[in-house]
Amino acid sequence: MARPPGLLIGGEWVAAQGSDAAEVINPATGRIVSRISLGGEADIDRAVCAARLAFDDGRWTKMRPAVRAKLLHKLADLMEQAADDLALIETLDNGMPFGFARNLNVQGAIEGLRYQAGWVTKLNGETRNVSLPGEWHTYTLREPLGVAGLIVPWNVPLAITLGKIGPALAAGCTVVLKPAEQTSLSALKLGQLVQEAGFPPGVINIVTGLGTSAGAALVAHPGIDKISFTGSTDVGKKILASAAQTMKRVSLELGGKSPVIIFPDADLDLAVEAAAMGIFSNTGQVCAAGSRLFVHRAVFDRVVAGVEMRARALRVGPGIEPETQIGPVVSEIQQSRVLDYVRKGVEQGAEILTGGRKIDRAGYFVEPTIFVQTRPEMSIMREEIFGPVLCAMPFDDETLDEIALKANDTMYGLSASVWTRDLQTAHKMVRRIKSGTVRVNAAASMDPAMPFGGYKQSGIGREQGREGVEAFTEIKSVAVNLGR
Ligand code: NAD
Repeated sequence: MARPPGLLIGGEWVAAQGSDAAEVINPATGRIVSRISLGGEADIDRAVCAARLAFDDGRWTKMRPAVRAKLLHKLADLMEQAADDLALIETLDNGMPFGFARNLNVQGAIEGLRYQAGWVTKLNGETRNVSLPGEWHTYTLREPLGVAGLIVPWNVPLAITLGKIGPALAAGCTVVLKPAEQTSLSALKLGQLVQEAGFPPGVINIVTGLGTSAGAALVAHPGIDKISFTGSTDVGKKILASAAQTMKRVSLELGGKSPVIIFPDADLDLAVEAAAMGIFSNTGQVCAAGSRLFVHRAVFDRVVAGVEMRARALRVGPGIEPETQIGPVVSEIQQSRVLDYVRKGVEQGAEILTGGRKIDRAGYFVEPTIFVQTRPEMSIMREEIFGPVLCAMPFDDETLDEIALKANDTMYGLSASVWTRDLQTAHKMVRRIKSGTVRVNAAASMDPAMPFGGYKQSGIGREQGREGVEAFTEIKSVAVNLGR
């Protein structure tokens, strides 16, 4: 078999130091489509040294901000030109429908990058008025943190990758990217575009490899100043502990178990459509997926029947086929994980309204699944399944505090949706829900201008928006004595 592509280190494609490689499987067929190198500790060390040099010698930070911004736009232009190829790669690698890959993942990545390019020329400190005796000129400087290690999961690879590279580079950091081992191909294609755009060598380095070796080595490396991680809460905790050894800055975007709360006065047609797509889109492999559905008892049967009808009508198939709405899950492991949760749900007394089985064909397909008769203590209600599984539960004429208590009864706090036409109910619920994002009369959607991140065990820090780019900076307080 052909040699797997190398790693992008210091502006060159180089072979990994070891000979380890992994097969890349198309989840829609179970067949091997490519191979990637599995970089290890030595490769991470080389990449960090290249990024360190590129940061320390000022080839990036001292470049005029307008020129740096232009380079980010140039990369976005090249991604636009290659958008169909990038989307196809994501479809073959991750399984997502081509339309989702093209219009949400790749387009989201490009728009996010352009948004971040705007920050290059706008990041500022500020002057402060102080009460010190005498005359002072006091101000803050916003400086880039240094070298950032970026660790990405497999569910929406390119959008999450650019959601980290964009703000890191905008802030003036240099980066080492470690894509997910299941879905590294789009990062490798991105590496080619980075070279074509003409970034100075070492500003963007890409090391493919396993989390437990390449990922862990990146987190432990003393030459890294910040880790920006998106992935599971379990791995996030390990990263936090390891990063503490060198006091690295950390941003953690972790799991979710997001509630969708539908009041009886809501526009039920819209709510039903959004509830269905909020859990089944990208086969439920979305951190902000609305996986717990709370519906007022007066409309519970109607809403659940509507979601069920949509679930049954969804066309599940290979992402490459134009009529496909829902692709496979990413891997055989993920398929077993999802089906294990379904089994546990049944064992613990929940009832499957529709779905619950794997689809009998090649590839890793799972039927869109809805559970009713759920109880708060069930694993399917408490743990992130990261698959097309919705748990529905009615609520009665309770106070908003009581309803919020149910929605907040989770260790996660990433996202939530509230459906009502009553302004007071909407705003009161927004304040009572403990999550980084709350949507009113809308399903989870992202915008690069809106900070995104979690309360509780859904993470630490925010990505996107001003907060996201500032998370790649340090603040320096400067006080100049203007007295004698
Ligand atoms: P994961 O935690 O298994 O892996 C994520 C990344 O971390 C991969 O690149 C992996 O190689 C790496 N990794 C694994 N172990 C590591 C270690 N010990 N040290 C350093 N790196 C390590 O997650 P996943 O299964 O790829 O992704 C699914 C998870 O990601 C879900 O929990 C989902 O909710 C979460 N997610 C969160 C957000 C968000 O913005 N909050 C977005 C997307 C996905």
